[in-house]
Amino acid sequence: MGKQTKAIIKMDVKTVIKELNKALADEFLAAYQYWIGSKVVKGFFRKTVQEELAEHANDEFRHAQMLTDRIIQLDGTPILDPKDWYKLTTCGFIPPKDPNSIKILNQNLKGERCAIGIYNNLLKKLKDKDGETFHIVCHILREELKHENDLEAILEDIELSKK
Ligand code: FE
Ligand code: FE
Ligand code: MG
Repeated sequence: MGKQTKAIIKMDVKTVIKELNKALADEFLAAYQYWIGSKVVKGFFRKTVQEELAEHANDEFRHAQMLTDRIIQLDGTPILDPKDWYKLTTCGFIPPKDPNSIKILNQNLKGERCAIGIYNNLLKKLKDKDGETFHIVCHILREELKHENDLEAILEDIELSKK
């Protein structure tokens, strides 16, 4: 790790790495949840939902990349074994056994709200202590807020279309 990279961090770097790896587990599971959901979804607004979920899957994968790059920059080891995704996850994974688009949208919405809570808490821990990780987490959180909004908007449109 760069000497100055380390010097400017005013908290235990191991704690930062641990938190980033936990978030990484959630991002991979979220990416797969969105991706597989986009493949199996049926029902209301099928095409819109497919496209939105596929886009979010790409976003979550990009978040995983950002977290991994920061972990490596801090001389940490990113999760190497997918088995650890389940060990380290906070938000979990809901297999989309029912392809109904409303069900799938709600499953993903639950995940987004969990992610928003995690990143918001993480920001509090990092504030004034690790500016660069704080910035990365801010960026990710902003996109999770947009994800929540996008999912809510589709669910709202589905409800309106039923009237
Ligand atoms: Fe994400
Ligand atoms: Fe998200
Ligand atoms: Mg979106």
